[in-house]
Amino acid sequence: MLIQPFDDRDGYIWYDGSLVEWRKATVHVLNHGLHYGSAVFEGLRVYDSKAFKLREHSERLLKSAELLGYSIPYTADQIDEATHEIIKAQSITDGYVRPIAWRGSEKMAISAQHNRIHLAIAAWPWPPYFAKELHEKGISLRLATYQRPSPKTAPTASKAAGLYMICTISKHEAERDGYHDALMLDYRGYLAEATGANLFLVIDGEIHTPIADCFLDGITRRTVIDIARKRGIKVYERHILPEELAKAQEVFLTGTAAEITPVGQIDGFEKPFIFKPSAVTHQLVEDYHQLVRS
Ligand code: PMP
Repeated sequence: MLIQPFDDRDGYIWYDGSLVEWRKATVHVLNHGLHYGSAVFEGLRVYDSKAFKLREHSERLLKSAELLGYSIPYTADQIDEATHEIIKAQSITDGYVRPIAWRGSEKMAISAQHNRIHLAIAAWPWPPYFAKELHEKGISLRLATYQRPSPKTAPTASKAAGLYMICTISKHEAERDGYHDALMLDYRGYLAEATGANLFLVIDGEIHTPIADCFLDGITRRTVIDIARKRGIKVYERHILPEELAKAQEVFLTGTAAEITPVGQIDGFEKPFIFKPSAVTHQLVEDYHQLVRS
């Protein structure tokens, strides 16, 4: 299947306050975001023309930038408004929104205190992240070589572009070996998350999920915790050792793109861990799909 490259499409992108023709929404090669990893971004889904959890995403974008030491020159209200504008301009019914902020080109050095902060928001139609048939069997994960770093090593609570370097390497390694995604441990050896989604285990009808103390506390993660608690399912946020995967009957990932994606197999440890998406996962998937369109 030929996918139209992202820099060669029709439509508009919201860019520093105005709508710019899609192909003209460019940056100069000499910009701080590209060279020194000063970009932060978001990913939102649009369901029935409405951006799900828009305010949470706009606030997280602002916080991500603060954690990198800069301030995006728009308020959450203005970012929400700009997002509405681009969804409308692009006529998106079901799709994806990608806001991104970065330090510009005034100074090309590690120190770039006064570089202009840019913000762009793109939106496009987008199908589900993982194929539907995989929802029945679950996807396969392979243990990643890299671990999520300590919050003393990197600004781990920021959705910073630079933190995705180890995610892309890990995901590529997993794909090369025939897996759908990689499972990352954290710097202490606890279970952390996949390369772009949070991790949940179902053990005897109860839910266990790693504490988000060194990786992104996903907005979907928090939504799913709420849904589960509303259903009367106990949810434990705690440090989880990889060997505890042996006790889990069901495992799933959560994320804006992944939504709730069941996991069928995890490899890379002494023996493979096998799971079967069942009652708890199915219930949450159903509840989540209802919620996003309510
Ligand atoms: N972890 C990582 C590394 C991610 O990229 C994402 C996707 N944004 C998540 C977790 C899930 O976050 P959310 O539910 O807010 O999309």
